Amino acid sequence: MTAVSCNVNPFLTSWETPYGIPDFTKVKEKHYLPAVEAGIAQQTEEIEAIINNPDAPTFENVVEAYEHSGAILDRVVGVLFNLSETDGTESLQKIVEKVLPKLSAHSDDIFMNPAFFAKVEVLYKDIDNLALSREQEMTLKKLYDGFVKNGVALGEAEQARMREINMELSSLSNTFGNMLLAENNAFAQEFGVAISEYGGAMASTEDRALRERMFKAYASRGNNGNENDTKELIVKMMALRIEKAKLLGYENPAQMILADKMAGNPETVDTFLAGILEPAVKKAKAEIVDMQAVMDADIAAGLLPAGSKIEPWDWAYYAEKVRKAKYALDEEQTKPYFQMENVRQGVFDLTTKLYGLQYEKLENIPTYHPDVEGFKVTDADGSLIGVILTDYFPRSTKRGGAWMNNFVNQEMIGEENIRPVIVNVGNFSKPVDGKPSLLTLDEVETLFHEYGHALHGLLSQCTYKSVAGTSVARDFVELPSQIRENWAFQPEVLATYAFHYETGEVIPADLVAKIEAAGTFNQGFMTTELAAAAMLDLKWHMLSEMPCCADAACTDGTCAEDKCADETCAKSECKESCEKTCKKSACEKNACEKAENCAKGECVKTESCDKDGQCCKSENCKPECCKSEGCGKSFVECFEAKACKEMGLVDEIIPRYRTTYFAHIFSGGYSAGYYSYLWAEVLDKDAFELFMQKGIFDSETAMSFRTNILEMGGSEEPMTLYRRFRGADPDPKALARARGL
Ligand SMILES: [Zn+2]
Repeated sequence: MTAVSCNVNPFLTSWETPYGIPDFTKVKEKHYLPAVEAGIAQQTEEIEAIINNPDAPTFENVVEAYEHSGAILDRVVGVLFNLSETDGTESLQKIVEKVLPKLSAHSDDIFMNPAFFAKVEVLYKDIDNLALSREQEMTLKKLYDGFVKNGVALGEAEQARMREINMELSSLSNTFGNMLLAENNAFAQEFGVAISEYGGAMASTEDRALRERMFKAYASRGNNGNENDTKELIVKMMALRIEKAKLLGYENPAQMILADKMAGNPETVDTFLAGILEPAVKKAKAEIVDMQAVMDADIAAGLLPAGSKIEPWDWAYYAEKVRKAKYALDEEQTKPYFQMENVRQGVFDLTTKLYGLQYEKLENIPTYHPDVEGFKVTDADGSLIGVILTDYFPRSTKRGGAWMNNFVNQEMIGEENIRPVIVNVGNFSKPVDGKPSLLTLDEVETLFHEYGHALHGLLSQCTYKSVAGTSVARDFVELPSQIRENWAFQPEVLATYAFHYETGEVIPADLVAKIEAAGTFNQGFMTTELAAAAMLDLKWHMLSEMPCCADAACTDGTCAEDKCADETCAKSECKESCEKTCKKSACEKNACEKAENCAKGECVKTESCDKDGQCCKSENCKPECCKSEGCGKSFVECFEAKACKEMGLVDEIIPRYRTTYFAHIFSGGYSAGYYSYLWAEVLDKDAFELFMQKGIFDSETAMSFRTNILEMGGSEEPMTLYRRFRGADPDPKALARARGL
């Protein structure tokens, strides 16, 4: 037979590569679109076959058949979306834009298909009598929920609207990601500092005016009034998310999203976050006092003008000074001991100690970029666990942050256990000037974190791909990753990997002691900015209505009171709410004194409002100021300012992500889910306390974590898995203990 391989689309057949690694060398951009179309056609046919099967529905002929469908689509989507995030060239982004609406429509075709649903529903209603394994029950439940969440029970017109909403949302969230990438690159260009290096640059830049400029540029990404301004997009997305939640019978998106999470509802998350914010802000205030003392010394030395106060752009810089003074810990001293290759080997060796895993560098494998390296992972008995790829350095086509993803999912096909291909992506310090990549403490922690996700994917021993590996509830998925961070700086662990990149000398004991002592340093700030971002996310998704002044009827989304009261705005409830908050006439007539909020008679005009004198000003009047025309703020900015005030945030700290560049919630699938990091931290700190009791390398505890949690994916309820490992419920105070709050 003559091979005519030049015309073969590599996505149409399984990869003929070692360990099923995608054959990146054969993939060309022209292959994606036809493969997506072929994949959709294949899965559509497979689902038709399920529907047309004349036999009575069984778990095997419905759920299992569905689990095994869509092989081509899995292959092409796995590659396309990984690459669009790690090497998203303009031409690839264009392909993604074409593919997204097709995938959205395909997904709706499946999950709004009444004939398919009828079969699933028969099984679901009889779930207790089918003698299913627990994993089968969870898989069936997840499939059933997928239909319900997609509005299978809606009428025809509502379903059609749902399709439009889904399609628009998938495209908007992709656009958000692209806009943010452009904003990040613009920042990098202006300051010569990659977004991932921002924290380090702020800590080491002496020039205060430059720090201020950097901070302002960083904090205004997506909010510059240019073509990459995300505010309008956010308003649109929120309106669509609210509409979708309401179509499905929920009051707001948070209620819809949280229904199947461990937390269960927005109120629980709100209480949880408020309970963290309160002590965190208190600690942060104490940290400001420490930093102000250092700043005062700079003032006394004539370095700064008298009266200078800590501003948001001073935090990293003075925190670093306090850290040096209090703990004599300087990142320049630690970095030589954290060469990337050594840290990676350190986390590999840790899993050898805990789980008996073995690693082998793979030399001649296809990769999508020269920075990518691959390792074969085997179990203690020599059986294949899977492949881990690492892609650690920034480039202009890579999105910010660090993450784990799958190229191939773990699942059982008949007797064959398909082993996963996992990637860990980062934006770590690059090798420069002949020096290798030397990681900051933060980066070391991130590398351990992402490898925790990788282990969750690698060690999976499930049958069905829908519940395998990291396919678990969002507020559980960070447990396997965050727990791994706890090992990174333990002295016994450092001794195995923290070697000086030039001398090979192991990190000296005094430096280890300093790292340990500084462990809870700056936790007031770190916890506050994290919890504030989580609260901001929650507040957005608890909106049950976009105020009229933010929606299209009121044109540009600005929050000016005049617009709301204007005739052009049809919604009466809007007028009403504007009348309530608007003190304009009172202010004008009586020079503010009589406005409700100025009861104390301490009425001062704010700077931003003094042009037209509309806004009376006592402290509690501030949020309303945003509504006056004079301040010209958009709804997105007003909403955020109000949210921050409500959560008691201090002026020196902004949320870890502000709305206009909050990729997790507008392009990353963490909407109403950013709290998950803190939620899972309660679990991970509580779990690690068991390791501390039994010994951090205790193999019995480690194997219990492996078999009860890492291997199980979503094949059982998360809390059940956790209790099996821990023998008890998690102690909610574990987080505060670990963070020294
Ligand atoms: Zn994570």
